Amino acid sequence: MRLFYDLHLHSCLSPCGDADMTPGNIVGMAALCGLQLIALSDHNTCRNTPAFVACAERAGLLALPAMEMTTREEIHILCLLPTLPAAAAFSDYVYRRLPDIRNDEAIFGAQLIMDAEDTVIGREPRLLASAADIGVYDVAALVTSYGGVALPAHVDRPSFSLFANLGFFDPAMGFTAVEISSYAEPEAFCRVHPGLEGLMTVQNSDAHDLGCIRDAAHVLEVPARTPQAVIEALRRGAPGDAG
Ligand SMILES: [Zn+2]
Ligand SMILES: [Zn+2]
Repeated sequence: MRLFYDLHLHSCLSPCGDADMTPGNIVGMAALCGLQLIALSDHNTCRNTPAFVACAERAGLLALPAMEMTTREEIHILCLLPTLPAAAAFSDYVYRRLPDIRNDEAIFGAQLIMDAEDTVIGREPRLLASAADIGVYDVAALVTSYGGVALPAHVDRPSFSLFANLGFFDPAMGFTAVEISSYAEPEAFCRVHPGLEGLMTVQNSDAHDLGCIRDAAHVLEVPARTPQAVIEALRRGAPGDAG
């Protein structure tokens, strides 16, 4: 089955996420855009994923808990998890490896934790924009140990990306797929970057505000409508994006 997807969305828990990016609003906009498969990937936390998954279930959309993790090298990695308990455990693991720097809301913005009714139930005090003390060579195996899959985010971007920060892709990192930003052309990008040719690519919105959630355009071929099937498809790394 082919599902229209967007696997990289930020909520108001990300310091850079707009206040309107509540779990309910994100799911509502995703449904309006015709998306069928979505993931919430806040910076270095999964704490809004329970509300997000509950909202998506109400709307009939398939949702995965996720995280955009910042490695020690300040590379953004999209991490998709199969269940809420796995996401909570992974989130705790990453949290313990984040520097204990307090978020200054006046500078970085609020980091709001919400329930499935879009009510604020907490504020994350630690700055989530920092880098976790986890190396890029360890992420894929780490996320696999939680039953998930990890892929380097927006590899074509000039900051916080594999090529910008490290300068190369190494198959030994264990990634089976990469995310190309929606502004780039995946085939052209992969052709000129050693190691990427033939690798599975996905394109997401990386939306930080509601207006950036795009109309359904990219599809993922999955054998079943479950988070596990989505993760398996990305682990296999077979071409699944019909563009
Ligand atoms: Zn990013
Ligand atoms: Zn992002």
